[in-house]
Amino acid sequence: MSRFWSPIVEKLVPYTPGEQPGQRTVIKLNTNENPYGPSPLALQAIQAATGEGLRLYPDPVASELRDAIAGSFSLDVDHIHAGNGSDEVLAQAFNAFFTGKDAVVFPDITYSFYRTYCELYSIQAEKIPLDSAFRCDPKNYRGPCGGVVIANPNAPTGIAMPLEGIVQILQQNPDVVVIVDEAYVDFGAESAASLVPDFENLLVVQTFSKSRSLAGLRVGFAIGQPHLIEALQRVKDSFNSYPLGRLSLAGAVAAWMDREWFDRTRHLVMADREKTVTALEEQGFDVLPSSANFLFASHEKVSAEKLLRDLRARGILVRHFARERIGNHLRISIGTSEECAALLAATASIIRE
Ligand SMILES: *Cc1c(COP(=O)(O)O)cnc(C)c1O
Repeated sequence: MSRFWSPIVEKLVPYTPGEQPGQRTVIKLNTNENPYGPSPLALQAIQAATGEGLRLYPDPVASELRDAIAGSFSLDVDHIHAGNGSDEVLAQAFNAFFTGKDAVVFPDITYSFYRTYCELYSIQAEKIPLDSAFRCDPKNYRGPCGGVVIANPNAPTGIAMPLEGIVQILQQNPDVVVIVDEAYVDFGAESAASLVPDFENLLVVQTFSKSRSLAGLRVGFAIGQPHLIEALQRVKDSFNSYPLGRLSLAGAVAAWMDREWFDRTRHLVMADREKTVTALEEQGFDVLPSSANFLFASHEKVSAEKLLRDLRARGILVRHFARERIGNHLRISIGTSEECAALLAATASIIRE
């Protein structure tokens, strides 16, 4: 606290990122990174982009990247906006579309950045409780509001909403923007991108951080009709015209084009996810049905806090949220097959004690 802070900064409760330990020996299952690494073609492209060219500013409108993404969705480039990670794209969208008059609605248990952006931009927020099985019922997203934000699959539950649910929410809220945050969609959920031509109020947000294993590059994007995309570009150009550097642009384009690496690695993650669910359930865990690259689980006998502590003592990091309703759950990212096996051996031994 300082007398120079604005009242907004004074009240901010910033998002708490997962730990990034310096030492390399830990098994890191706490921030939903993808264990298989970026496409080798992306790494080559990034290397090729280092050099004298860095003297020059990058393309402010990221044309090549937006073109590549648009092509995959059979859309024109004016339907795509790119940013420095999808967190930035989400922040720009809150700034562009949520006026602060009516409350923006999102589930009580979801990505906590939504609440933080509301605070940052002085937007009213209203949390709509998930049901007792942590499912999101589209029926509850009806009636006047300032906007809707749905993570699909949701985080940290991993539960996906079928596309009909998203359609229902869009239809029930024709006068406000509905943001669908698809950070984990490539691990088994259905993207709402196909709905963009039909819904002028839909903004789909995706990232290169999870399924393309480029969390360190910071690239995210939004898909929406041109009138929404133009608003995001206006916000971008009122803050930072060059959010994506030359290395990010080069790497992201190459990663996007390398469909083969993308498909192979995400299917490895999904296969290990299913095996890990079965094994955890055999150990007495209750595991929510996940369509993401992480599991959300609680144990019938051992508390999440003890598991967190004892796993850490064994060099395995997982994520715990000390929040209402989910204080006894752990969020466990899917690592390599070996890392999943190490996790299961560790949980088995902790439970046996
Ligand atoms: C990881 C994540 C993001 C942000 O990803 P970026 O790295 O900023 O692209 C956005 N939404 C959810 C739900 C996430 O889990």
